[in-house]
Amino acid sequence: MRNYGFATRTIHAGQRPDPYTGARAMPIYQTTSFVFEDSEQAAAYFNLQEYGNTYSRIMNPTNAAFEERVASLEGGIGAVATASGQAAQLLALFTILKPGDHVLASRMLYGGTTTQFRHIFRKLNVELTLIDPDDPDNWRRGVRENTRVFYGETIGNPTGTILDIETVAAIAHENGVPLVVDNTFATPYLCRPFEWGADIIVHSATKFIGGHGTSIGGVIVDSGRFDWGNGKFATIVDPSPAYHGLEFYATFGMYGYLQKLRSESMRDLGAPMSPFNAFTFLLGLETLHLRMERHVENALGVARFLVGHPRVAWVRHPGLDDSPHRVLREKYLPKGAGAVFSFGIHGGREGGRVFIESLNLFSHLANVGDAKSLVIHPASTTHRQLSEEELVAAGIGPETIRLSIGLESLDDLIDDLDQALIASASAGSAR
Ligand SMILES: *Cc1c(COP(=O)(O)O)cnc(C)c1O
Repeated sequence: MRNYGFATRTIHAGQRPDPYTGARAMPIYQTTSFVFEDSEQAAAYFNLQEYGNTYSRIMNPTNAAFEERVASLEGGIGAVATASGQAAQLLALFTILKPGDHVLASRMLYGGTTTQFRHIFRKLNVELTLIDPDDPDNWRRGVRENTRVFYGETIGNPTGTILDIETVAAIAHENGVPLVVDNTFATPYLCRPFEWGADIIVHSATKFIGGHGTSIGGVIVDSGRFDWGNGKFATIVDPSPAYHGLEFYATFGMYGYLQKLRSESMRDLGAPMSPFNAFTFLLGLETLHLRMERHVENALGVARFLVGHPRVAWVRHPGLDDSPHRVLREKYLPKGAGAVFSFGIHGGREGGRVFIESLNLFSHLANVGDAKSLVIHPASTTHRQLSEEELVAAGIGPETIRLSIGLESLDDLIDDLDQALIASASAGSAR
């Protein structure tokens, strides 16, 4: 059997023509439930003795095609599709943790993730430490007796930090815990964290996987390599009271974690992907490799233009030659450092406001990874309530602008940015 290349798998993995109708595109199985052949089969499905569709909260054929395709692209043994990226993170960690455990995470995370970890972990009596991921020793220093997970993002937000996956995975494994990586900003086209030792990957499919700003979704992928039987993970190894005493690790081996995630955590927390969204994500994946190439090329073109602009104070793009993350970028992201980055505009908060309001092509909104170019000024929107000092503490200056570069003609993007930067000059000098 030939090992198909990445592009072939973005189009074919997880799907063949529908055996009943011959449909070439993946049908949307918009059904809650599936009829059993007989009572014996129903019992076997519910006992997890046979694998078959029961109810779309647990599994669904359209979702299964999406799950298999993402697993193939990341190089994992399987995946579970979720209602959102936030749900993917929660389900991935909820399956591992129990009250009294500790999570060690990068503090350069998507804002929604930091908020989720801070507040939900407290309710579950799980401790959290957020560290500066740039110094690998911070991971070693942060480990405690009760640490059960390391967590970071391939490309961090908003500073463009790049996780030293190989080093951090090695420290995690020295301590007998898995490394979970959010690979949303890189996608498996730019980086495959399993190749560097990560154990579990989560995605917000909402972003580049969908690619067109239409659907909310997420996915969890398992490498199948982590040893849950090392004595630290009673949650996965011990007989489960929530599944009539089933021992997931002893029964399913390397599939034990994902099986427990699907048949217990997803069953009980209930955040599955809708089959319709799985269909839009399958379409997104078919062009992922092509879109990411153009996203990366456009973003670097825009970053280089901004570096030379008199209205621009600084540019943080890991692809620039003077980036402090250049060495890690060359190792982990040889095809490019993604398409989301930030820069500082002269004229502070007011300059930023006028700049954004003067843009024509860029859409002012809170998303990334769309075919359309997007912009947000954290100081006047998401972080508007903060004082200038509080903004600096959060790593966001009043001058910070975040861009997500889309697939338009690069010349048009540069022209739009240039006229808006010039317009912002009046605001800056009036202050
Ligand atoms: C958007 C995002 C999330 C959350 O995903 P949703 O699909 O919005 O729930 C998590 N991590 C990263 C890096 C993101 O960009």
